[in-house]
Amino acid sequence: MADDTIFDKIIRGEIPADIVYEDEAVLAFRDINPQAPVHVVVIPKKKITGFDKISEFSADFAGRYMSGVAAAAAKLGLKDGYRVVFNNGKDGQQTVEYIHAHILGGRQLGWPPG
Ligand code: AMP
Repeated sequence: MADDTIFDKIIRGEIPADIVYEDEAVLAFRDINPQAPVHVVVIPKKKITGFDKISEFSADFAGRYMSGVAAAAAKLGLKDGYRVVFNNGKDGQQTVEYIHAHILGGRQLGWPPG
């Protein structure tokens, strides 16, 4: 499968992931190369390659995806806050062509992000 990604394999259960939250719309698991004490990636169960294709979701599914990101973040207990990031395309340093939200927290984050 030419456009198969590591996240497709995780969704299919072909490779392991440290899953922290799951519902009917999303799967959330710890990033293998964490950039903060808490770093979780949230993917929709319906594949879309990137944030720039978000309009390919129905409004209902996009809403359930965002709600899933919020539910995953709530489960992580980041009482002092967190950041949600979508890297998109080359300049955004997207490396996996399966839309994913990064939840980063557990320390004071800097801005601008660089
Ligand atoms: P991005 O650079 O925005 O495309 O983010 C892709 C993220 O996926 C990176 O932060 C990687 O560390 C993470 N990643 C790659 N492979 C895995 C894996 N097998 N399990 C968990 N996270 C992964």
